[in-house]
Amino acid sequence: MSRWSGWALGAVIAAAAVLAALGWVSLRQWERSAQLVVREQARDMAAMAAEKIEMVLRDVPDDVIARLRRAAERPEELESVLAEPAVREVLERTLGGVEATSIAALLDPADRPVYAREPLGAAERLASARLRAGLPDWKIALYQPEGVSPYGAVRRQVMLFSCALGVLLVVIVAGSVITYRLMRRESEITRLKADFVANVSHDLKTPLSVIRMYGETLEMGRVSDAAQRDAYYRVITRESERLSRLIDNVLDFSRIEGGRRTYERALSAVEPVVRESLEPFAWQLAQGGFAVDVDVAPNLPDVRMDAAAVGQALSNLIDNAIKYSGDGKRLEVTAAVTDGALHLAVTDDGIGIPAGEHTRIFEKFYRVGHSETQGRRGSGVGLALVRHVAQAHGGRVTVESRSGHGSRFTLVLPVE
Ligand code: ADP
Repeated sequence: MSRWSGWALGAVIAAAAVLAALGWVSLRQWERSAQLVVREQARDMAAMAAEKIEMVLRDVPDDVIARLRRAAERPEELESVLAEPAVREVLERTLGGVEATSIAALLDPADRPVYAREPLGAAERLASARLRAGLPDWKIALYQPEGVSPYGAVRRQVMLFSCALGVLLVVIVAGSVITYRLMRRESEITRLKADFVANVSHDLKTPLSVIRMYGETLEMGRVSDAAQRDAYYRVITRESERLSRLIDNVLDFSRIEGGRRTYERALSAVEPVVRESLEPFAWQLAQGGFAVDVDVAPNLPDVRMDAAAVGQALSNLIDNAIKYSGDGKRLEVTAAVTDGALHLAVTDDGIGIPAGEHTRIFEKFYRVGHSETQGRRGSGVGLALVRHVAQAHGGRVTVESRSGHGSRFTLVLPVE
């Protein structure tokens, strides 16, 4: 699935790249042919102007023509020849009638503009045409005044299309990448869900088989010792409590997912919540040889909370502290009011959590290093529930932890 979406992303990006290349090439070609057309038109116009001028030149007295020709060979005389009224009049008559958007100029045989209707400045020469009669080797050239170049319009259009093409490509590529990431995320969630089902089933199965085994043993009347029998009953009770906790977690999680989880908040004492959350773990803690440290500050005010939900959140934190304790068998649970908020903290000396995972562990189904590598049971929804409870109370849950150096989870609830 993910390989296919990778290929699809690659294909879209490749197609976008081909589109970009084709777009670029055709824009360049269009620009070039537009320039060609402009040049062609200018050449025609210059030829027409030259014809017109030749016609006029036929009526010009020969001595004017001769003087002009001579002046071309002696540039120092050119100025004064051009200033002669007769010459001036001819030039104005001939060059004045050419189309207004371009400037017509007379070029001497050395291609120097000797006369133009307007100052040429930085105008660009578009085309020229040779004068055949009268002044052979002289030319009429058309100049494009600066700023009104017909290429300007073409260039502006090319720029506009390039920008549009660029925006289109960015949208295509960004859209594909976002879709790809969303698909990756979806398939990750699907995988996590499958893990979740397997983990929960496994979690349900273990206590059930213990209950069944002890129940059957008792039923067969094989246990004659009363103390032993009591121990068996305790195991059954403890395991069924664990089952209930697990099922509560799953049910609550499904309520949260469906937006149906509600909290009934009432002023409640904090100490009983802590005590009752710890109680079900007492035997497990004693068996595991844990050093347990519980510190509930005296005179804590009552807090407006859903005591059952907060108790469940605390149980999840305690369960995790035991589950991920590694060799550091220590559990510390504290309750205190700091900065106007109740801080319920659960600390362990366990395996810890790498800094990069501190946010992700609160996501649903997320488990550090995935369930199979960790080798510890769990559904991956415990911390998601804790966070939901905290936020529903207007509070938050924080984590301080380092890989291999234990963890402290703190549930912070506002006190009115
Ligand atoms: P799980 O059912 O897997 O325990 P949680 O949502 O309770 O799910 O926790 C998510 C993940 O966070 C766990 O899989 C574990 O990797 C990590 N984690 C939670 N609490 C602790 C802890 N006290 N010490 C180390 N890792 C923890």
